[in-house]
Amino acid sequence: MREKTLSIIKPDGVSRNLIGEVVKRLESAGIEIAAMKMIWMTKEQAKGFYKVHEGKPFYESVTDFMSSGPSVVMILKGDDVIKRYRKIMGATNYEEAEEGTIRREFATDIEKNVVHGSDSVENAKFEINYFFNSLEILK
Ligand code: ATP
Ligand code: MG
Repeated sequence: MREKTLSIIKPDGVSRNLIGEVVKRLESAGIEIAAMKMIWMTKEQAKGFYKVHEGKPFYESVTDFMSSGPSVVMILKGDDVIKRYRKIMGATNYEEAEEGTIRREFATDIEKNVVHGSDSVENAKFEINYFFNSLEILK
């Protein structure tokens, strides 16, 4: 099924010059980039984005991290792209992520794991609308 998902290259990925590396992997996998921009989230914006994790022990820390510097946000398009992109990212905890995945190769801890990807059609819709308006979605 043709889907859209939201991808973020998190502040650790941007500051470590991994934008090209991540984009190359997406393009090589035949995933289409439908929109892309660089943003710097405020703490409040990061809290809104990770609202599903409100109350969890890592909520304060992860929202500090996400607002610590610029991120690149992208809308990805393709067949079954939500699952396919999460497979390319690897597990949340890089130590458990499969060999060859972005997180396994580049993450430095469970929080600073380089990339984000939506986990369902419903969350993808919320996350895409959180960062992009209709004029910014070119295809
Ligand atoms: P993301 O939503 O960023 O794509 P994910 O879906 O693999 O990652 P979630 O459970 O949604 O994982 O957690 C969101 C983010 O919060 C993680 O990517 C990571 O940066 C951080 N995080 C998750 N669990 C922990 C933890 N136990 N300790 C510290 N940070 C965590
Ligand atoms: Mg998640």
